[in-house]
Amino acid sequence: MKTIGLLGGMSWESTLEYYKIINEGIKKRLGSLHSAKIAMVSVDFDPIGKLQHQGHWDEMAKILLKDTKSIEKAGADFLLICTNTMHKVAPKIESSLNIPLLHIADATAEELIKEGIKTVGLLGTAFTMEEEFYKGRLEKKYGLEVITPNKKDREIVHKIIYNELCLGKIKKDSKKKYLRIINELGENGAKGVILGCTEIGLLVKQSDTEIKLFDTTQIHAEKAVEFAIE
Ligand code: GLU
Repeated sequence: MKTIGLLGGMSWESTLEYYKIINEGIKKRLGSLHSAKIAMVSVDFDPIGKLQHQGHWDEMAKILLKDTKSIEKAGADFLLICTNTMHKVAPKIESSLNIPLLHIADATAEELIKEGIKTVGLLGTAFTMEEEFYKGRLEKKYGLEVITPNKKDREIVHKIIYNELCLGKIKKDSKKKYLRIINELGENGAKGVILGCTEIGLLVKQSDTEIKLFDTTQIHAEKAVEFAIE
């Protein structure tokens, strides 16, 4: 079994989910007392969150690069960055490491293609919903048509992530807002919706809606299990 490298803490609320899904997956596949071999660094998210909103991506890349080097040194065979947003600096990290990076958008796109979905809604931070590194990657590398909410709704989605979900606050009212937005993406032609932020699955579940949801935390963590025992 390979050792899974996890760069977590962004936020720790979702890193917990990664840890659980990965260990449950290994147990299911290998049985008895098997559990995952993991090398993890969990960062302090507060300075990262501030740097994101100030636009200092190079500085963040430096911080995360140091952490990923530690993960590599600790024996990881491959790396997962446990957040969609920080994949903005993935190319810098990828080019400096000797181990492969399992990209969250690639893992998700492969699932969409498997399900035959070509037009998909995307929810996440403003960075994820609006920028090339994520939306563009889905469109250009995989030929998907990606629909995002209107500006006002993108702001709602973004604020709930940072002011509530990353702090472990799960509110009924916010869930209602997310479900309305998901519904509207469906009305605009989306055949599925990507929960493109690793905390959204804590708020919205598949049982809440008829539209097929693609939870990036679940997909990414399950891909890691497959890769680890391949
Ligand atoms: N975990 C979130 C994501 O998947 C948001 C936190 C962050 O900005 O890293 O994008």
